[in-house]
Amino acid sequence: MVPLPTCRALLAAALGPAGRRRLPRHHGNHHLPPIPGAAAARPSSAAGGEAEGPSRATAMLRHLLLKLRATGPVTVAEYMREALTNPGQGYYTRRGGIGEGGDFITSPEISQVFGELIGIWYISEWIATGKPKAFQLVELGPGRGTLTDDILRVFNQLASLLSKCDISIHLVEVSPKLSEIQALMLTGGEVQSYTEDKPAYMKGVSKTGIPIFWYRDIQDVPPGYSFYLAHEFFDALPIHKFQRTEKGWREVLVDIDPEVPDQLRFVLSPSSTPATENFIQPEETRDHVEVCPEAGVIIERLACRLEKDGGAALVADYGHDGTKTDTFRGFRNHKLHDVLKDPGTADLTADVDFSYLRKMTQGRTATLGPIKQREFLKNMGIDLRLQVLLQNSSDTATHEQLLHSYDMLMNPKKMGDCFNFFALLPHHRLVHPDKKHKPESNSPLPPVAGFAELLLK
Ligand code: SAH
Repeated sequence: MVPLPTCRALLAAALGPAGRRRLPRHHGNHHLPPIPGAAAARPSSAAGGEAEGPSRATAMLRHLLLKLRATGPVTVAEYMREALTNPGQGYYTRRGGIGEGGDFITSPEISQVFGELIGIWYISEWIATGKPKAFQLVELGPGRGTLTDDILRVFNQLASLLSKCDISIHLVEVSPKLSEIQALMLTGGEVQSYTEDKPAYMKGVSKTGIPIFWYRDIQDVPPGYSFYLAHEFFDALPIHKFQRTEKGWREVLVDIDPEVPDQLRFVLSPSSTPATENFIQPEETRDHVEVCPEAGVIIERLACRLEKDGGAALVADYGHDGTKTDTFRGFRNHKLHDVLKDPGTADLTADVDFSYLRKMTQGRTATLGPIKQREFLKNMGIDLRLQVLLQNSSDTATHEQLLHSYDMLMNPKKMGDCFNFFALLPHHRLVHPDKKHKPESNSPLPPVAGFAELLLK
């Protein structure tokens, strides 16, 4: 077997002296309280960050009020699903404001280095598993398409290494507006739309000649050895909320406020519900719990696919390991926003419960993490990359931007500590299949980059 190149060798080959994209300036922060003086490196580019007129907010609110009057209170999950992905008025459907002029900013939008290091992670996994002849890169919730674009640039830099590998890109995106922006970013806008009878709804070819397909659901993505990526995807999926009371667990619901016209409020279910019975563990010690069953279903699907076809999944998001309570919040124009106010005009989000994701793999795959973003990026060689970029740029403005975006990604008080990396891998990637029988006879498996410090030669 060909030895695994060192992280340093991969970094040098993949990224070149300065990367191809100029590092521009950027402001803002993600779903975190605003960070004073936040400014980093990415072009100013809100995805649909246009001003929302009151009529739109009213349309979504009107729709919800009609629904609530007709059928009574809804779960927080149902409310969140409507507010974010309702086909007519949902936040992601119409607005999806990622970027400086939008509502929140994400790591790939801050610095190209982020996506480049993730690209290296996939390549190092591809090498560690014996360089399969083909792989699919499947991104869930690709936003503006920036992360995939950065990864594709790394693949292009490593064209000679990947020359015999058949690569395809598969994007799972529900928002027509964001899929248009992704198409523009990745293909220059030349795409073909498909009718209902095909699993993909759109197809194009990347600037570097790699086929790209768009789907609404992970189930539509063809099977095969795949690398999955979910960056700030799971936090956007609908959560159920539960409150412990003297009478037992109750589900938090959304209802019309009888005191204030056209306003929503939270209420508790009068008795236990099937959800309280199913989602709360008997040993639960917290008083308030959030559960995202949709995340569980998706993780279960990923785990089944990885078990059968091989590959790896990388999940990056803010979250906790089953310890936090009330994390549901809204963001608009980079500020915290009342989750029940003007639904459809703000991003709604909740911390990802990694312990739940781990549980939902049902042991089909191994899991690594969650580990903090700053540790993962450090292990992936971000310091080395920063040095190279600094050495290769002479103007002070670029230096400042590079240092600023590094600080945004790595500072424990900014994105360094609250964002986590979590991976799903086939068991044989971590434990040699013959290990049980012949413990001494096998050469050690290469470490999984990012989760372990790589030995740099
Ligand atoms: N990964 C990007 C964008 C994060 S925002 C980044 O980090 O910049 C969340 C993304 O998930 C958006 O693209 C949104 O449209 C998409 N999304 C939200 N709910 C979805 C669902 N149920 N299925 C598929 N995509 C979804």
